[in-house]
Amino acid sequence: MAIPILAYHNISNKFEPGVTRNTIHQFKNQMEWLFRNGYQTITLNDYHAFESKTVSKSSKKTIIITFDDAYESLANAAAIMQEFGFIGCTFAISDYVGRSNLWDYQLLNRKIQHADYKLLKQLLLSGWEVGSHTKTHAFLPFLSDNEIIREIKTSKETLENHLNVSIKSISYPYGKCNAKIRKIAKDMGFQTGVSLGMKKTSQHDLMNLHRVGIYLFDIKPIFQKKISSAHFNPKRIYSIQRCVSSFSFGSVFYRLLKQRIIN
Ligand SMILES: [Zn+2]
Repeated sequence: MAIPILAYHNISNKFEPGVTRNTIHQFKNQMEWLFRNGYQTITLNDYHAFESKTVSKSSKKTIIITFDDAYESLANAAAIMQEFGFIGCTFAISDYVGRSNLWDYQLLNRKIQHADYKLLKQLLLSGWEVGSHTKTHAFLPFLSDNEIIREIKTSKETLENHLNVSIKSISYPYGKCNAKIRKIAKDMGFQTGVSLGMKKTSQHDLMNLHRVGIYLFDIKPIFQKKISSAHFNPKRIYSIQRCVSSFSFGSVFYRLLKQRIIN
């Protein structure tokens, strides 16, 4: 039975255009459902240890809960998860720690604040894992080798210097990577990499772990269906995820346009 890896973004009641947000109430209901159904959470570091057989697997139902972009709303998520004894993994964009999301387009001028180092350190203290989401949230498949190395290496070093922990997991911005990016990340010491909306292959690759995105439209039955599909019918859920993730290309396009204008 596969271990589902969930991908959340912003847990907040503040309106924002788009669906990569969950309300606090919705998130709490989802965590409560996982708790009542006997789930335990682990980090990607734990997962790597299971996979490399340095630690034996628990018999309990296991799930990994990740948060891309490391927004300051993680404080909401962490407080709820703590009620149920859960921990998570978040991925920080090293140039934007403690700043607003100027890397993204702000529809209706809605800016979202990223977590600062104080909050990231608190999360680490409560058992969470902090990973890298690169330096500037660049779309890696379009970059040269040197640019990819710079995005990944600088982010890892900056986060390690500020947090005083080894950063071993990476979430590829916009969920996308390729074999070259995975090799660069692995060579730099990353043990696990998570993607979103990539084509699922039969080959198991710790540097390309597929995730299930959880969005605003995921009402209770859909959330439950996603979890059970991730366990028992991963092929189906990941092909649906590919369709949903294709909407993030608006953000990628904006990003490329901005780079063109600046350069
Ligand atoms: Zn992101």
